[in-house]
Amino acid sequence: MSVKVNEQFYAYSSDEAIKEQGEYGGVVTTIMKSLLETGAVDAILAVEEGFDLYDAVPTLITDPEDVIKSAGSIHCGTLNLAKPLSKYLNGAKDLKIAVTCKPCDAMTIRELIKKGKINGDNVLLIGVNCGGTMPPVATMDMIRDVYELDPKDVIKEEISKGKLIMETADGEKGIKIDELEAQGMGRRENCQRCDLKIPNNADLALGNWGVIGPLAGKATFVEVCTEKGAEILGKVIDEGLIVTEEPIEKGVKIRENVNNFMLKESLHKKEEDYAGTTGDILDVLNKYKEDLSKCIKCYGCREACPLCYCEDCCLEAEGPEWVPGGQIPTAPFFHLTRMVHMADACTNCGQCSEVCPSEIPVAKIWSTVNNKVRDIYGYVPGRSDDVPLPFTEHPL
Ligand code: SF4
Ligand code: SF4
Ligand code: SF4
Repeated sequence: MSVKVNEQFYAYSSDEAIKEQGEYGGVVTTIMKSLLETGAVDAILAVEEGFDLYDAVPTLITDPEDVIKSAGSIHCGTLNLAKPLSKYLNGAKDLKIAVTCKPCDAMTIRELIKKGKINGDNVLLIGVNCGGTMPPVATMDMIRDVYELDPKDVIKEEISKGKLIMETADGEKGIKIDELEAQGMGRRENCQRCDLKIPNNADLALGNWGVIGPLAGKATFVEVCTEKGAEILGKVIDEGLIVTEEPIEKGVKIRENVNNFMLKESLHKKEEDYAGTTGDILDVLNKYKEDLSKCIKCYGCREACPLCYCEDCCLEAEGPEWVPGGQIPTAPFFHLTRMVHMADACTNCGQCSEVCPSEIPVAKIWSTVNNKVRDIYGYVPGRSDDVPLPFTEHPL
């Protein structure tokens, strides 16, 4: 079947067992399994449930029978797969790898492809919609204290119609997500600001938004985003592995509305977060000087950032002596240096904030600067391959 870029489908697996076990008709699982079985890729990089629902573990799958283990979404999966792909899998230079990715994984992978750290020819991006992810420990506390449930009893959590819903064997309990977030709970603060919820920067964008009618809950909405994505989908349809139907027009509209609603909320959050500064690097440093003064120079943010990639980091104590006596750089220099390195590329993935022991809102700080770069150069990181890097196009 000839599949074209921008085409949209309702789809489900023709394999009854996968349909049963995989989420929303098992499309992601079926595509991944087929990619491995046909040798189109050597491995799948995905996330699977570890100890429990709050433990998201990155996993490299090479046996098609293991793909099913990564089925389902884990909202406490706050990791970004660009890091293991570039750092531990040699940037897919030796293996062809398909990645199940959230929009921020896909954005960051695209930026690393441009920087020559990932071989884009060897990577397939199977994107999944993302309304946001939540920090695991704080989420367990919230389930205990606010939902008055035992986190161990929760079998599924989802965001639907503005509510964060916890499902147990006894039923569902939902609380308005904006009420939770106003009290510092719910999604990570970078997710509340995130302005890409449907990963149309991947090869395929999949999710359950907009699937209505007889297939509601039993099929996935698939959008074809690239020629690579069209080829993958065409093959699984031809092999009889995936059944497709034309989406219901009203469903297409609902998907758009869900997306637009979330983007509107993100815009409010961005306005709030970026207020009180011009976005210029020194002004941002000044605004956050009190927060940054708490920095203990653990270098955690640098280590966690998937886009902070220099092999010989000039911030190492053994490197240039930033401070007489060979001390590690003082806080403003440390952050100033990282800001300059990240200014054009920060994808607001939140990894730096996740690890900061001093609870400095580092992702908010870097994304404030990046937002200014977006305004000046019109360059939004991670959306496409063919837009030149602003600092390449306009050398400073
Ligand atoms: S930053 Fe965006 S894509 Fe990434 S986890 Fe948060 S909401 Fe999802
Ligand atoms: S600076 Fe933080 S938010 Fe930006 S790309 Fe790096 S880890 Fe992600
Ligand atoms: S993670 Fe936090 S404390 Fe550690 S170096 Fe970064 S900003 Fe400083």
